[in-house]
Amino acid sequence: MNFQLSEDHLAIQQAAREFAEQEIAPSAVERDKTGDFPEEIIQKLGELGFLGMMTPPEWGGAGLDCVSYVLAMEEIAKVDASVAVVMSVNNSLVCWVIETYGTDEQKERFLRPLATGQKIGAYCLSEPGVGSDATQQATTGTLQPDGSYLINGAKNWITNGTRSFHYIVFAQTDPSKGHKGITCFILDQDMPGFEVGHKEDKLGIRSSDTCALGFTDVRVTPDRIIGAPGQGFKIAMETLNGGRIGIASQALGIASGAFEKAVKYTFERRAFGKPINQLQAIQFKLADMQLKIETARMLCLRAARVKDSGQNYIKEAAMAKLYASTIAMEVASQAIQVHGGYGYVREYLVERALRDAKITEIYEGTSEIQHIVIARQLLKEYAVG
Ligand SMILES: Cc1cc2nc3c(=O)[nH]c(=O)nc-3n(C[C@H](O)[C@H](O)[C@H](O)COP(=O)(O)OP(=O)(O)OC[C@H]3O[C@@H](n4cnc5c(N)ncnc54)[C@H](O)[C@@H]3O)c2cc1C
Repeated sequence: MNFQLSEDHLAIQQAAREFAEQEIAPSAVERDKTGDFPEEIIQKLGELGFLGMMTPPEWGGAGLDCVSYVLAMEEIAKVDASVAVVMSVNNSLVCWVIETYGTDEQKERFLRPLATGQKIGAYCLSEPGVGSDATQQATTGTLQPDGSYLINGAKNWITNGTRSFHYIVFAQTDPSKGHKGITCFILDQDMPGFEVGHKEDKLGIRSSDTCALGFTDVRVTPDRIIGAPGQGFKIAMETLNGGRIGIASQALGIASGAFEKAVKYTFERRAFGKPINQLQAIQFKLADMQLKIETARMLCLRAARVKDSGQNYIKEAAMAKLYASTIAMEVASQAIQVHGGYGYVREYLVERALRDAKITEIYEGTSEIQHIVIARQLLKEYAVG
């Protein structure tokens, strides 16, 4: 596979890097402390086309490929993983669904404002009692005589939850059909019966916005069904397949940000009469970290290339996410180790990487679930071969 980046890819990478350093970095530490949402940054990201990167220009997006998205995500996450997850959810979990399954009318009405960043969106699959096993949706959509649905239930852990206007919501509309009775709807925050919970106080990605949602008889007209009734579970899973490339790139960015800080520190810190990067134990740590990051980057780019080529990318995306999230934890921990005691305090900025990295092993399918996805795909391939 060719990993050569084009001039256009390099330009996008550079633009994302400059934006991250100039616009995101100055407030990242403070927002991590306060948990304040990066409102203005997200607005600017939208103006630059980073919130609808892969959405076709006819619907307001930048019309770029998935490789560009990986490159931009890494640069943003390197500086602030909280901003990166807002970007990832809007691109992969919201715009993609409407672009892929929506009607032209839905694209005009919902996708355009989301892809241009005028509004941001959320993806609502998890519930208080339902996470990895998303077949068991307790949120219901009950068909009414006039063709509308009444949505009742609750969603949990919703990224962009208090800030969004449009919400992709999965609900059980025909329990007799099990997961084939789940339907995908698009709801707005200002609908009667739509309740937004409090923002969660999290270990990491602290300035991202995560909350619970409640629905009490929220009336939804059929023009807000995405795809067909009963197609929701398939849509939810396909969406997460692509989303995993975004989260893998987020993990990669967290790792590469921590690594860069660690390398710089080894030139400054002296022990036993020399810079610590002259100690073989430190050199070996740096070598291991670099190896893991480069491998994760290749997996992310490979998953993106396979997706761009139109082939099945389920295994590649799961492998990229599983590996990148695992090494993000390892690299962040080693970056702290290289800093010694200074790594353990906020001032030196690497402890945030460890706190931010952990979520990449949990959302959009835990690491355990990624193992299941990879194994299922590879066994299918071997069975065919
Ligand atoms: C900060 C944050 C943001 C999030 N954003 C969103 C969002 O925007 N939208 C959304 O819908 N959800 C979101 N989530 C939810 C997230 O996707 C779930 O937390 C995740 O899928 C795991 O589900 P769970 O928490 O219910 O864990 P559970 O499914 O209860 O799992 C508990 C443990 O059991 C393991 N496990 C479960 N099943 C298996 C199995 N078959 N084999 C082996 N091990 C298994 C899991 O790996 C895990 O270790 C977010 C979560 C957080 C914390």
